[in-house]
Amino acid sequence: MFQLLDGKATAIEIKNRIANEVRQYTQQGLRAPHLAAILVGDDGASQTYVANKEKSSHEVGFTSSVYRYAEGTSERQLLETIDFLNHDEEVDGFIVQLPLPGHIDEQHIINAINPKKDVDGFTPVNLGNMMLGEDCFVPATPKGICTLLRHYEIETEGRHCVVIGRSNIVGTPVANLLSRKGFDCTVTLCHSRTQHLSALTRQADILVVAMGKPEFVTADMVKEGAVVVDVGIHRVADASRKSGFRLLGDVKHDEVDERCSWVTPVPGGVGPLTIVSLLENTLQAYKRTMAL
Ligand code: NAP
Repeated sequence: MFQLLDGKATAIEIKNRIANEVRQYTQQGLRAPHLAAILVGDDGASQTYVANKEKSSHEVGFTSSVYRYAEGTSERQLLETIDFLNHDEEVDGFIVQLPLPGHIDEQHIINAINPKKDVDGFTPVNLGNMMLGEDCFVPATPKGICTLLRHYEIETEGRHCVVIGRSNIVGTPVANLLSRKGFDCTVTLCHSRTQHLSALTRQADILVVAMGKPEFVTADMVKEGAVVVDVGIHRVADASRKSGFRLLGDVKHDEVDERCSWVTPVPGGVGPLTIVSLLENTLQAYKRTMAL
């Protein structure tokens, strides 16, 4: 019988801890931590992500602000806003919600963020420091996955971890983190050119799936007793739901879950931990700014 890596419940616990800490600071007369976001265009998923980040910020007592721009906004305008936020002493950290419209060079934008305020951990300085095991902001989703594994005391030392997906924001950093001292996994990183994918995933004690393909991972790809972390999130139309849609992961949960020892649900698995990790990074930035 599988057990859930319950991201929602874990996130509530961590948020309560953050809220208590923030309350202590504000009761001493200090300002609250401030997280800002830059949102470009009207992509529904991005709007939802930013709204959730705002809501969670308020829940823990942070100040939050959102800088909204139309789809056609220029790279120059965004660079000006980034420069403003880099210098605003009242803002501890900020994020640029990705993806950006095609005419904007994402890496160029990310490179302009002051690494000390880069609470998404996407700048070369933070990613480089992460690779070196130095003090840095760890990207929110990989950090959330690590938090979840630790929270449920999942045994990782010497385990074979297979990661599907090599994006800069999920697959590559999580593969790096889980192979480091402390987690000590032996990691295989797979991508769209990987041959014999199922043969590899069937060897996984821990399988992290971040490929962006709804229900791609089926029961025959998973070893009995594996720990499965499903990062994928997809909205699919469902007329039977009041909302008109339901959320699917990259894993076909109705057949995979019963093979697992532990598994993240979708929704309520990795997603809530991603937001909480962003809050943790912002609190870390705030404490640095305020010399706490
Ligand atoms: P991405 O940038 O699109 O990367 C997908 C990766 O999967 C790529 O490395 C790609 O390989 C690999 N891939 C695609 N098809 C494959 C196949 N058939 N076999 C093996 N590998 C394959 O995606 P991402 O940004 O990492 O996100 C992955 C998923 O996680 C998406 O569903 C996204 O919405 C979700 N996500 C969720 C959260 C959360 O908080 N829950 C946060 C971030 C992302 P190549 O490199 O060779 O193309």
